[in-house]
Amino acid sequence: MTEIIFLGTSKAVPNLEHQNSHFVVKSNEGVILVDCGVNPLVRLKLMGIDPHDVTDLFVTHFHPDHVSDLPLFLMNLWLEGREKTLEIYGLQEVINKVEALLEIYDWESWEGFYPVNFHGLPQEEMMPCIESESIQVWASVSCHSVPSIGIRMVFPEGSLCYSSDTSPCEAIVRLAKNVDLLIHEATDENGHGHSTPEQAGQVATDAGVQSLTLIHYDPYADLESLKKRAEKTFDGNIVVALDLMTVTFT
Ligand SMILES: [Zn+2]
Repeated sequence: MTEIIFLGTSKAVPNLEHQNSHFVVKSNEGVILVDCGVNPLVRLKLMGIDPHDVTDLFVTHFHPDHVSDLPLFLMNLWLEGREKTLEIYGLQEVINKVEALLEIYDWESWEGFYPVNFHGLPQEEMMPCIESESIQVWASVSCHSVPSIGIRMVFPEGSLCYSSDTSPCEAIVRLAKNVDLLIHEATDENGHGHSTPEQAGQVATDAGVQSLTLIHYDPYADLESLKKRAEKTFDGNIVVALDLMTVTFT
């Protein structure tokens, strides 16, 4: 069984019901966390996930709403006695900034800190990131205001693609080709490295996906109208992600 748990769904400015966008994918082998703009510790525990089970962390890009709580999350794991290695993935220039951010906090002086492996990716398409028995993960550079990656995951029960922040992007259409679930941003700021719900629907159609989940939207927007707008360009099942929503692949 593979589960996707949405821990936050908002665009950069969150509200009471919607934290900044981040989610986990829980498989038999471990938990992959995607983005860390908000410390996920409390919500992981709320959803019954041991934060120490997080094996891998993808940082899609270096905007504060996607990365700013990473040092706190890593520190929390250390304070709670983590011993096992954490793998962190991102574009090489993002990894450089993540390391610089941790150095500001003098993390090398945190005694007995668990091992962290950084995986700096080149700015390419379909970069292989994880290849294990229960999950395979690839990344492609999306079309955002700073270098950002979308992620494709294939597991025994299905497949998904996450667009990350992006305007409508051919590389994301290719990355999402024929997946069961496309999780696409719907910031609704056309022309600023973001997408409207209609554009997210069009990417879903072009990629031939089964279903579309909208994320990274204005938390004050009328969610039913976001869905209706995506329906103009995509015939499949559409869901607007909510915080703490779980999708199970069986
Ligand atoms: Zn961004």
